[in-house]
This record gives sequence, C-alpha cells and structure tokens, in this order.
Amino acid sequence: MRAVVVSDSKDKLVEVKEVELRPIQKGEALVDIEYCGVCHTDLHVAKGDFGAVPGRIPGHEGVGIVREVADDVTSLKVGDRVSIAWFFEGCGRCEYCLTGRETYCRQAKNAGYSVDGAMAEQCIVSADYAVKVPEGLDARQATSITCAGVTTYKAIKEAKIEPGEWIVIYGAGGLGNLAIQYAKKVFNFKVIAVDINDDKLALAKETGADLIFNSTDQDPAEWIQKEVGGAHAAVVTAVSKVAFKQAVDSVRPTARVVNVGLPPETMDLDIIKSVLDGIQVVGSLVGTRKDLEEAFMFGAEGKVVPVVQTRRLDEINEIFEEMEKGTINGRMVLDMSLK
Ligand SMILES: [Zn+2]
Ligand SMILES: [Zn+2]
Repeated sequence: MRAVVVSDSKDKLVEVKEVELRPIQKGEALVDIEYCGVCHTDLHVAKGDFGAVPGRIPGHEGVGIVREVADDVTSLKVGDRVSIAWFFEGCGRCEYCLTGRETYCRQAKNAGYSVDGAMAEQCIVSADYAVKVPEGLDARQATSITCAGVTTYKAIKEAKIEPGEWIVIYGAGGLGNLAIQYAKKVFNFKVIAVDINDDKLALAKETGADLIFNSTDQDPAEWIQKEVGGAHAAVVTAVSKVAFKQAVDSVRPTARVVNVGLPPETMDLDIIKSVLDGIQVVGSLVGTRKDLEEAFMFGAEGKVVPVVQTRRLDEINEIFEEMEKGTINGRMVLDMSLK
C-alpha cells in the first residue's frame, strides 16, 4: 500500500512510499483509509520536534472503513466506518483509564507518532479504541472532528460554565473556529473570538461569535472587562505566549482558563490575581473516546461544520510547506481515492 513515511534524509520531511503492513493481531482491525486530515502536530512529528521517528507513518485524523477484524474482536465489524485519533490506545487499567481521564494514561499510544497512523491506504487499529463515525456525518468533515473538534469540544466542557455565560476563545484558526461553533451551537454560550487576523475573525463572526476582537494593536483583556465585565471562562487555542496572559486577564473571578494551544514557552501567571480572583488555569489534552463520540454526534446533527479541502496523498510535502507559511484556510484532508 502507499503511505506517507517520515523521512530519514534532511532534504524532505516525509516521502510517499510502498509499505507492507504486518498481519493484524488479537484485538485489532484493519481499516481501508478514506481520508486523513493534516494537522500541525503531524508537522511537529515529521520535523522530529517530539523526538525523531524516521520510518513512522504520520496521521491522526483518519477515517476509513473496516476491512478485516481479528477473531476476538466484538466492538467492530467489517464495513463499519471508524476514526483514527491521536489518542490511539490506553492501557485500560490505570487510574486515568479507569476514571474517564484516559488521554492522560502514562502508557497511551498516539497514532502517527508512537504507532503508525492514517496517512496511508490502510491502517491497523486497536478495535476497542477506534471510535465509530456516525451515519449522516460527512467522512471528510469527520477527520477534523477526530482531532480539532474533539479537542475543542473537551476544552469547552472543561471550562465548566453555564448556557448564556461568556466564553472567550483566543485564536480563531482551525481549532478556534471549531471551538466557537461548539461553544455557540452546542453549549449555547455567549462567545467572544480574539485573533490577530481579520479574515479569521470574519469567519468567526459568520460561524457564531457574538463579539470579535483584533488584538494586533489593542489589549483584548481590557476591552472584554469593559464590554461584558470579564468572561466566565477562556479557552486558548492560539500558539502565542501573549494570548495566555491575556486570557487570564480577560476573565472574571473564579473563572477557568483552559490551555489548548502548544507554544513551546512558559506562561506568566500573576500569582496575586490567581489567589484573589480564584482563577483556575487548566490544561486539556484532546478527548476521550466518549468525548469523540459526542463531538461526532453534534457534527452529524449539522451543528458543527468543519471547513475542509481534499488533496492527494503525494501532495503532503507541499501541504506542510503551506502550513509553515500559514497560508492554509480550513483543513487540508488527504483523499486516498485521488491518484
Ligand atoms: Zn491533529
Ligand atoms: Zn491507562
């Protein structure tokens, strides 16, 4: 089968190669991949930012049809449409796995990083961990929900606020736009979107933001405090250190600030404010299988619509280049049927 493989040469990040998959083992299923979204995390993996993984097949926004299951598998059958997510598998026995916090399992495997992922014509999955894609959800759109969708859906749950309350979303890109849609259309929050790009803010407004703010030259925190008396919660999807500080300053007392974006930096936190205002700063990592099932359901109901565009498998290096230049709008999705 054809697959994208992390290159061991310095000239290019990845190459498209013929790869032979091993036979499936107990508990596994073989999936014919239809689509796989291209995520910034894949770029990090390809560049070796989390440690070099030459030979690894990237891809954790995969959707495909089950072709074969091992004899002992009961959770999937041939013909099911399933997803391949970053949270590929947990140990199933530790305190995190047993208490609904499985993404923090210390033995968790990650698709496209610690195990081969979905940028290929086929992928082997751990059957009990491959969440089914519901009928009525477009398979291309499902790829985005598998990563950006579930990540933002979970982060918004972690904000722990009530319908009608204000949430500010920092960063209105791929993650942020889905965050805005879930916050508005699923949770019925009042939504403020903050970004430095007017096009992204215009899209934010179209997809449900009540208020938008361009933070290029002005302080969003001061404006939010004045406009709504401070948000009840903040979700930070921006990959910029300053946004995390602004998020803390833009919430009202006892609010939660949920960190999702991953700038490789430290965050400044005013200790006195955190104490006097009872501010909680929490991280949120992707989502559990149950979170993904829910995130898919709202997609199938048409409440959340990811913006996607299909490309050929062998365009992957170009897509990574576009990603580095920041010229991508919406999500690029590899379509395995395009030759
Ligand atoms: Zn992703
Ligand atoms: Zn575990």
